[in-house]
Amino acid sequence: MVANGDAEQGDLRRWCELRCEYRPERSERLGRCRVRRGSRMREEAFNDGDVAESDLVTRRGTFRAVAFRADGHEHMALVYGATDVREDVLVRVHSECMTGDIFGAMRCECGDQLDAALDRIVTEGGGILIYLRGHEGRGIGLVDKVRTHVLQDEEGLDTLDSATTLGLPVDVRDYSPAARILKHLGVTSVRLLSNNPDKIAALTARGIEVSARVPHLAPPNRHNIGYLTAKRDRLGHDLPQVDVFAADSPADR
Ligand SMILES: [Zn+2]
Repeated sequence: MVANGDAEQGDLRRWCELRCEYRPERSERLGRCRVRRGSRMREEAFNDGDVAESDLVTRRGTFRAVAFRADGHEHMALVYGATDVREDVLVRVHSECMTGDIFGAMRCECGDQLDAALDRIVTEGGGILIYLRGHEGRGIGLVDKVRTHVLQDEEGLDTLDSATTLGLPVDVRDYSPAARILKHLGVTSVRLLSNNPDKIAALTARGIEVSARVPHLAPPNRHNIGYLTAKRDRLGHDLPQVDVFAADSPADR
């Protein structure tokens, strides 16, 4: 518990620093953080009115779809297979990305990861995909995300510099709803489909044991190789396929 508490404090501090990096008043920032921590503790369990569930038949099979309201957003957990498994559950915590998830944009790997996660969960016969809203552009929102695309296309900036040039933070995603959802579903430990160490730290800090990290690698293409390289080199994501792509990459790809 001590380790979790320390991790939570560290994670919260980092979240606050990122979230508030461009807020001018430090005192306001600290106040905001305290309020947030308190509200999170109070809101750990969901009210019945903020949860609804039904079966959802998809082209991959039938999931149990559980919708949640949390922190001003509506999220969804898709549960496949046995719903009473508590430990070592295969889980993908997926950040909303309209351009990638819905429209198949190739400048990021979100759509491929969403598809691959659902495929893997079904192939294994069980697991949970948590779809977190409010995570567009690592939390800056859709309009600002598209603004960063302009800078990436016209100025050649990477996914981080295009955000900071606009005065925006690099990553302000809040994973606490995912931990709350997993607790609501009775899950205590997960095998997490992720390449992002921050996601593991965030869940761990909120009481969800990550018993294993399952690499979740999408094949690069010439449209997203710069994005993936920046995620690997500047955000610390474990993306070994970037090196493979660079080594194999012919000039015309
Ligand atoms: Zn994306």
